[in-house]
Amino acid sequence: MTPLIEKLLILQDHDLRILKFEKELADIPLRKAAIDSMLDDHRQSVAAAKEVHKGRQAEIKKAELEIESFREKIRKYRDQQMQLKNNQEFRAMEKEIEGVEKSIRQIEDRILEIMETVEAALRDVKAKEDALRTEEGGVKAEIANIDNRANELSAELDQVKKARAGLTSEIEVTRLSQYDRMFKNKKSKVLVSVEDNGTCGGCHMKLPPYICHDARKQLNVVACGYCGRMLY
Ligand SMILES: [Zn+2]
Repeated sequence: MTPLIEKLLILQDHDLRILKFEKELADIPLRKAAIDSMLDDHRQSVAAAKEVHKGRQAEIKKAELEIESFREKIRKYRDQQMQLKNNQEFRAMEKEIEGVEKSIRQIEDRILEIMETVEAALRDVKAKEDALRTEEGGVKAEIANIDNRANELSAELDQVKKARAGLTSEIEVTRLSQYDRMFKNKKSKVLVSVEDNGTCGGCHMKLPPYICHDARKQLNVVACGYCGRMLY
């Protein structure tokens, strides 16, 4: 094998690794997003449980305001009662007040019932938050693994790029730019061997005998007439 082919093969090996590392690095944000989205269901159930809890609390608040307005009503009735002159009117007012007080007691009973559902809703929120936290723990570990892998990849990529840069200075400029153009275009092997049956190792087309001869003897850098790859 000529030194040029040897160097080009090493260069190609570097380039294939760079390609592979860059592809894996580019996929990392997508992989992380996919893992993170596994939490979406849990996040949604926490949010839904919180909504229920908030709704129940709002019901209580509303009932308390109702009671407050009834109490205000009673205070007004009492004031009016003071100014009443006859007993009959006084008693009629007393009956009004009792009616309002009864309404208050009914609302208070309702509040007690709602309070129980508030507690149940709060327990549900806590349970769903726990489930989310457990799941988050698993996801965190997975993301940490991916981040570690990303760091490894970046380090390896740097190394290969350095090795590649060192090698290019040893290859003739026109040959190098020819190779670079082809690799950029194919994004796969551009330097292939002639197979034993006389076909191109890249596209597997039958090569003319003189091409096989030249490639095997490495008299020159020859190209496959079908796919344009360099043959050796
Ligand atoms: Zn070919």
